[in-house]
Parts: sequence; structure tokens; C-alpha cells
Amino acid sequence: MDTNKLLSKYSIRSTKARQEIAKAIISLRHKHFCAEEVIERLRKKEIKVSRASAYRLVKLFSKRGVLRPVDLNKRWQMYETSFDKNHHDHLYCLNCGKIIEFENRAIENLQTKVCKEKKFKPLKHSLKILGLCRECDNA
Ligand SMILES: [Zn+2]
Ligand SMILES: [Zn+2]
Repeated sequence: MDTNKLLSKYSIRSTKARQEIAKAIISLRHKHFCAEEVIERLRKKEIKVSRASAYRLVKLFSKRGVLRPVDLNKRWQMYETSFDKNHHDHLYCLNCGKIIEFENRAIENLQTKVCKEKKFKPLKHSLKILGLCRECDNA
């Protein structure tokens, strides 16, 4: 994926630092990750961006919609990319931190129905189920 295209698609003015962040984000696109992991990627490539400005940039990418914050029970904010993922929800293992994604039509439809009944206009939602994955439950 081309970083310039990505930046312009989300109306983010291109700078060297932003391109590097975009590159890191693209390489993390199959994961759920925190800002520290983005910084880690930059460090590995010996790219010099201060921690504060890396955090600011991750926030900017999230604000512009490149990243979607994922609300998990962690002290730090987790993100996932939004440019190659459809809506889905999460199962989160409290023991090992594994994240399982799922998409269930029936659940989606039920939410729409609830909103209609309550005359509530849904803009977005996230569903997470906290628990134990199979490995942790069997341990
Ligand atoms: Zn687990
Ligand atoms: Zn996800």
C-alpha cells in the first residue's frame, strides 16, 4: 500500500514523519496494536521521531479515521486500521490478551432493531466480550 495515497485519502498533509508513521501502521494492519508498537516499529528502522510526537501522530491518524480505537480493558489505548477492515466485534481473553474478531449478522440486526424501538439513531457501536480463550480456559 502506498503511504502517499493513504495520507491523501484521509486528508493528512504529508510530511516525512507522517509517512513513516503511515508505513508502520500499514505493517501493523493485521493486528490490534497500541501507540508503543508503532514507536517500536520506528525504532527498529532507526527512524527518529520523539515519543511525544509519535503519540500525537497516532492520535491524528485516529481522528482522521485511518485508525479505529478498539476499546479493550487495557490501561493503554489499542487501535486497528480501518482502511482494509469491515465492521466487526471482539472477543478478548483476559488471561493472555488474545483478540478474536467476529461479525454476526443476527447481532447486528438486533442492535438496529433495538435502536429503532428506542427511536435512537446509531452512529457506531462496539461490542466486546471479555473472557477466557479456549487455551486459557483449559489450562
Ligand atoms: Zn487466552
Ligand atoms: Zn478488530
